[in-house]
Amino acid sequence: YPTRTVVTRVAPLRGQLVLALIEDRTREHRVEAVRRDFVANVSHELKTPVGAIRLLSDAVVEASDDPEAVERFARRMMKESERLSTLVQQIIELSRLQGDDPLEHADPVVVADVVEAAVDASAIDAQNRDVTVSHATAEDLVVLGNREQIEIAVGNLVKNAITYSPTGATVAVTVRGDDDAVEISVTDQGIGIPATDIDRIFERFYRVDPARHRSTGGTGLGLSIVKHIAAVHGGDVSVWSVEGQGSTFRLRLPRGHDMPHEDVLAERGD
Ligand code: ADP
Repeated sequence: YPTRTVVTRVAPLRGQLVLALIEDRTREHRVEAVRRDFVANVSHELKTPVGAIRLLSDAVVEASDDPEAVERFARRMMKESERLSTLVQQIIELSRLQGDDPLEHADPVVVADVVEAAVDASAIDAQNRDVTVSHATAEDLVVLGNREQIEIAVGNLVKNAITYSPTGATVAVTVRGDDDAVEISVTDQGIGIPATDIDRIFERFYRVDPARHRSTGGTGLGLSIVKHIAAVHGGDVSVWSVEGQGSTFRLRLPRGHDMPHEDVLAERGD
């Protein structure tokens, strides 16, 4: 009976359609809720340094006949404005990574160069905390990606490793590659991450110890940016940690085959 065939076919189809619509609406609601949360968080996070700068500038005016106080307030203003500037930069970076063309362009990138640049950029932080950063990487590993983004990702991991380490500690950056991917690992001997928090540290604005961030100057956005950069490259980031002993973060980036590896290595001029 053709009617029967039609009925049995249409019924589940309709069911699927309704289900698909409901799922779509649920997803829409979830995306909207996440967006609203993010905007609320951003406003809150921006208000803190902006408010502090306003109060401190009042204090500078009030204390104009006390040069020592003026200097003290001015230094705090500098710190708050640095924080504000990092925050704005990271928010822009995150929204770019969530936009329509997050990778922007992909070129062959020599991993050794990126790691070296990221380690160099953190030299002052390392020096301030008396932390030694070592890096070892094969010269000929190349991935297809956005150099600037990969440098930001590695830089964020190295910066965290330094920030959450005790003075005198060592941070090791190692790189290894196989046919499919290159893995950049950053290992520290720092405070580690409690098991109860480890699943959440890649969320935007999540911090294990929110009270601590005022002294470390962190924004809670660094790892979220690393996660997005890994994802837009088709890779991922994972973490192993023992509280009180240290952590290892591993950024895995696909190699991207059929690339002119020799050309890009030769172009480096070293
Ligand atoms: P933040 O700017 O606060 O460092 P991140 O997104 O980079 O933000 O990291 C989120 C949180 O994860 C940090 O606040 C910290 O609690 C924890 N974390 C990140 N890296 C490390 C690390 N190497 N060792 C210990 N804790 C870490």
